[in-house]
Amino acid sequence: MDLHAPVQYVKGIGPQKAEALGRIGVRSAEDLLLHLPMRYEDRRSFARVADLRPGLRVSVSGEIAAAGLRRARRLTIYEVRLDDGSGRLKVVFFNQPYLRETLARGRRVVFYGLVEKDAFASRLLVMRSPQYELVEGDGHGGIHTGRLVPVYEKLGPLTVKPLRRVLAHLAEQVPTDLPDPLPPDLRGRLTVIGRGEALRRVHLPGEGDALDLLNRFRSPAHVRLILEELLLFQIGLALRRRGVRAERKRSAFEVRDAAREAVKRILPFPLTGAQRRVLREIADDLRSVHPMNRLVQGDVGSGKTLVALLAMVVVLENAHQAAFMAPTEILAEQHFLTFRRLLERCPYRVELLSSAVRGRERADALARIASGEAQIVIGTHALIQEGVAFHRLGLAVADEQHRFGVLQREDLRKKGYDADVLVMTATPIPRTLALTAYGDLDVSIVDEKPPGRTPIRTLLRPASDRRQVLDLVKRSVADGRQAYVVYPLVEESEKLEDVKAATEASAEWTVALPGVRVGLLHGRMKSAEKEETMAAFAGGGIQVLVCTTVVEVGVDVSNATLMVIEHAERFGLAQLHQLRGRVGRGSASSTCVLLAYGRLSDLARARLDVMVATEDGFAIAEKDLEIRGPGDFFGTRQWGMPTFRVAHLVRDRDLLEVARAEAFRLVGEGALPPPLAHFLDAGGWERRFGLARVG
Ligand code: ADP
Ligand code: MG
Repeated sequence: MDLHAPVQYVKGIGPQKAEALGRIGVRSAEDLLLHLPMRYEDRRSFARVADLRPGLRVSVSGEIAAAGLRRARRLTIYEVRLDDGSGRLKVVFFNQPYLRETLARGRRVVFYGLVEKDAFASRLLVMRSPQYELVEGDGHGGIHTGRLVPVYEKLGPLTVKPLRRVLAHLAEQVPTDLPDPLPPDLRGRLTVIGRGEALRRVHLPGEGDALDLLNRFRSPAHVRLILEELLLFQIGLALRRRGVRAERKRSAFEVRDAAREAVKRILPFPLTGAQRRVLREIADDLRSVHPMNRLVQGDVGSGKTLVALLAMVVVLENAHQAAFMAPTEILAEQHFLTFRRLLERCPYRVELLSSAVRGRERADALARIASGEAQIVIGTHALIQEGVAFHRLGLAVADEQHRFGVLQREDLRKKGYDADVLVMTATPIPRTLALTAYGDLDVSIVDEKPPGRTPIRTLLRPASDRRQVLDLVKRSVADGRQAYVVYPLVEESEKLEDVKAATEASAEWTVALPGVRVGLLHGRMKSAEKEETMAAFAGGGIQVLVCTTVVEVGVDVSNATLMVIEHAERFGLAQLHQLRGRVGRGSASSTCVLLAYGRLSDLARARLDVMVATEDGFAIAEKDLEIRGPGDFFGTRQWGMPTFRVAHLVRDRDLLEVARAEAFRLVGEGALPPPLAHFLDAGGWERRFGLARVG
């Protein structure tokens, strides 16, 4: 059996099904085998009909003693009596008249399902639409019954039962001595079974497999497959990291007095201890002869931007350029404004290269970048993708790193930039994801907030409480404070409808708050207009700012102590956390009101409860990961998260740690064992983990 054979040749799959499977990425027999059961059911032993009680989920085996089809209003009901010698059980199926042929009188059959009280005669028991399988003899040796039965999620055109049949056949053919990328001594150290055995047992668990372990994905077969996947991924990361560390930069930077002077001029306040520590770590990298490849992680408002700016200044003072890349145009613009303000008293030239900069203007900007006249260049990731030519790029900073994966970082070097790389994320990332998405990086953590911040009180209110919320806003304004009212937006490029909603809302708020100065801010406004509005809010001219999520970054007004988030149920946790971080910036106590509309889904409810419960970004991130699952945490996979087939980053944290340690040990030792080296040499790494480049 060749596991790389096209799925079409697997028994039970024809050309048509193969095509449909191909469309969802299942192309080979192996792809199919890696579709693991979502759970297992113990259908090994049969209950006696005479012993059944309501609420039991059991297998029963016997003969169909009577059968009949009838109609009741729009339903067809097929009803049979199963006789196992101890008694008779009523079993009904709805709208499956064809079962008359399959489950005919005299057939031997196994049913698996829930025993319930009959609706009509409460002393009678019934099974409704159970799983069934025709059998011979006593019912053992079946595929769907009489054993530890895997239950699969539907896969393309294959529903549960056909899938189980196909996989049972396929798994039986997997040779136990299948080639294994993990050599025997490594298997021994990790105490895992061979690949062939694992692929068989995961679909055909045997007597040695405990139901409980199977269902927790911790059976020997599961552990083997999960560890293999995580290990291969981590080895790829470890190799990359070793590669970068072995490189030499064009020039190591020096931290000179001029840079120190410039930094002093820029700094509006003393750095926090965490900022100083992280800046020192960065400075050490800048001075090193090896390229920097560092991630700065820190909660909203921990002051990462400032740290990045100071690092850029060091590079400028070494006659090199710095690039600052934001994930969206709006954010790029915001940073441009912030930097220009902070650098007012410095002679550096800051250039914004957004898509709004076009034609002649763009050509001029590009020329300034190429000549080195533009010293700090701010833009989106398009900066690297388009291969903008720099005179001498010394440092590339990527803000909001979760949108900037392993391969994007590599792109930087491939474009010949040969620069130090600093990536920052304001979204605290759970350790498992950090080890995966940024496993090839050095990590610095800004784990301290600037002084004088007070905790934020967070309230969850239904829309029907809007009146009280309005009073809250009024009182806050009467106290001389300011407030944000945030409206959701669907995409990061603000859609017209969102802008319209925000515009109308600002009109409503203006009416509802007579005598209060209400302003409006959204991403579709011109840069100058935005700047003006932000300045007015910062200066107190605007008391209530109705805005879209533009306010996530860039706006920093410590007198704003109230934030009302409209339709809070539509926001993700990370975004809510980011937004809330805009208040609580001064010493006065702040409030964030989450206004929720309509009946909340369980997920929305869970998210909002987390917001009320904690302000700790890392705790929120862990919860977010649990609620959303790793796939959604980072959005689509093209942002640089690998796709795992069997591993699950929440469930498999423990195995990830094992894999990580082992991978870095192996790579640290030098030459990899042949089967592993072969796998990685063949360029399988990127393909296997579905890592794609943006664009
Ligand atoms: P982040 O990017 O980590 O979310 P920012 O760099 O935007 O945070 O900083 C948040 C706010 O805190 C900004 O207004 C910034 O000016 C301010 N800030 C940064 N560092 C300090 C500090 N050491 N002391 C006081 N305020 C600071
Ligand atoms: Mg920031």
